[in-house]
Amino acid sequence: AIQKPHSTFVFYTDRLGEQLEYRLKLQRDLDKAIEDHNLQLNFQPQFDIQARRIIGMETLIRWNNHGNWVSPADFIPLAEQTGQIIDLGRWILMEACLFCSQLFDKGYRDLVVAINISPRQFQHPDFITSVKQAINLAEIPASSIELEITEGVILGNEQDTIHALQTLKDFGVMLSIDDFGTGYSSLSYLKQFPLDKLKIDQAFIRQLEQNEQDQAIVRTIIDLGQNLNLTLIAEGVEKSEQLTLLQQMGCHEIQGYYFSRPLPADHLLQFLQQNNIQ
Ligand code: C2E
Ligand code: CA
Ligand code: CA
Ligand code: CA
Repeated sequence: AIQKPHSTFVFYTDRLGEQLEYRLKLQRDLDKAIEDHNLQLNFQPQFDIQARRIIGMETLIRWNNHGNWVSPADFIPLAEQTGQIIDLGRWILMEACLFCSQLFDKGYRDLVVAINISPRQFQHPDFITSVKQAINLAEIPASSIELEITEGVILGNEQDTIHALQTLKDFGVMLSIDDFGTGYSSLSYLKQFPLDKLKIDQAFIRQLEQNEQDQAIVRTIIDLGQNLNLTLIAEGVEKSEQLTLLQQMGCHEIQGYYFSRPLPADHLLQFLQQNNIQ
């Protein structure tokens, strides 16, 4: 039966109103969470396949909102839209650098702490200063910090992006492209940006062992990265079959549930101890 346009319309506006209300509430709650430091950083270990050891970790934010875990996949895009990502991003940077200095104090001097940077945060005029400040305050070498950016940052002015990345590289931080293969930009930036690493998006890994097209794509990304002298890391590795394939293809590093879930700081430290990392 054909729906009456009128009833469809009413349904639609109600939903829209509800969504708007939900977003406004989420926005207020997030403001409060930032103020109260009701957010927590987790760290997911990254593993060098050849050397068989942990080489670093990715910082992933967690928010417990009145007992409910809100996924960063939901609130980070919202924080981007509202501009809250600027304060939130500064806090994440500082906390991650402080955790890195804690690792240093415990004798883990070779581990790199990777931090996700959203496009709006990257494009803020104070971004580079805030990175330098956090690293200097934490008294850690810049090379212990890796910034993960997405192809989304390139949608801004390309020359500005190159300049900003070069300034960061000169300061000493590591730079990686996150979710590689899912953006729609041309590949020409790869030779212009001073990059260290490509992170192969987990969309290509999820069914790697059964999908030949994914295998072809991943193999091509790995060859491309190797020819450009970049380190390659595969995200979302959950199965030993995936690890085996990635190893055969010459991938350097993996990250995923197969090896470890993202862990709170104290669990991460236990994990390092259990795995005899020095
Ligand atoms: P991302 O940067 O691509 O992070 C990887 C996501 O994959 C994380 O989800 C991680 O928990 C998840 N993951 C890791 N291993 C596996 C696996 O083996 N299988 C599966 N299915 N998933 C795995 P998470 O923590 O929910 O974060 C989602 C997204 O939110 C991130 O995607 C990133 O875009 C954003 N995000 C998280 N933390 C931050 C942050 O501190 N700052 C910014 N700007 N964005 C963040
Ligand atoms: Ca990431
Ligand atoms: Ca990613
Ligand atoms: Ca992603």
